[in-house]
Amino acid sequence: MEACNAYYYATRDPLGRDGDFTTAPEISQMFGELVGACLADCWKRAGAPGEAIYVELGPGRGTLAADALRVLRGAGFDGAVHLVETSPVLRQAQAEAVPGATWHESLADIPAAPLLLVANEFFDALPIRQDIDGIERCVIESDNQLAFDRDGEILESSPAREASAAAIGTCLDHCGGVAIFIDYGHDRTSPGDTLQAVRGHEYADVLANPGEQDLTSHVDFEAIADAAADAGALVSTTVTQGHWLNQLGIGARAAALAGKNPSRAEELAAAVHRLTGREEMGELFKVMALHGPNWPQPVGFK
Ligand code: SAH
Repeated sequence: MEACNAYYYATRDPLGRDGDFTTAPEISQMFGELVGACLADCWKRAGAPGEAIYVELGPGRGTLAADALRVLRGAGFDGAVHLVETSPVLRQAQAEAVPGATWHESLADIPAAPLLLVANEFFDALPIRQDIDGIERCVIESDNQLAFDRDGEILESSPAREASAAAIGTCLDHCGGVAIFIDYGHDRTSPGDTLQAVRGHEYADVLANPGEQDLTSHVDFEAIADAAADAGALVSTTVTQGHWLNQLGIGARAAALAGKNPSRAEELAAAVHRLTGREEMGELFKVMALHGPNWPQPVGFK
């Protein structure tokens, strides 16, 4: 999974209608604006520290960063922008959307400073392992095809996700700040196979076309919450994306945008529905926040 995704992301921009999948910030500017508003609110309540930095993990085309930073800059935030991205193709797109950013290969290279961090659909792309009866399930070659070596009840885990969450937790504990994670997944650890492949906006066979389709799995928010808490961060409850965006006022934001531009009213209503509707992204996608011991709790998690 790690090798396939490294190749996959390094060789293309997978986002949008002509790509393989579409993410929330690509649906509407409102998504990034509300993330920015949530971060700006915490930053102000923390006393508007000048040394705080904006950090994003896996920023895709940079759309979320651009929308969030517009709101943060408007609130007076003047800090540096640090993007963790391994794909040269996507770094190029991010450079156009977010001039003046600094790129890093890994979280370990982020400077020590209070963080305003966001990761949307980042954790789902990190590799998982699957165990059956306590033995790791492996991919083998059989009749010149890839196959799984065993079947049975699957328990998924992701040491890579937990390591990322722990690294962020440690930064928040040492330097302060907040982090917001948005991804599809579940708020409790539970058995089951959630590995999936997506190509051209359709589900595909996970073992077909290695490196040519998006491989992800559902994020176990309980596991990343535990890893971050063990590292010293304070952890919010996990809420649905629909709940969180509604709490942050996506309805009011859509009404304000439609008021300024009535011809966009229908498109804005459709975007709100796609982002918050139960059968759309509203229920499957979850949001969780972390904050440092001396930082305020982000809003929207009650
Ligand atoms: N956050 C964006 C893009 C999501 S796609 C959006 O919401 O539109 C996943 C992103 O994570 C891509 O930018 C991909 O290149 C990046 N990525 C995947 N694996 C990574 C890794 N191990 N380290 C850093 N970035 C990674």
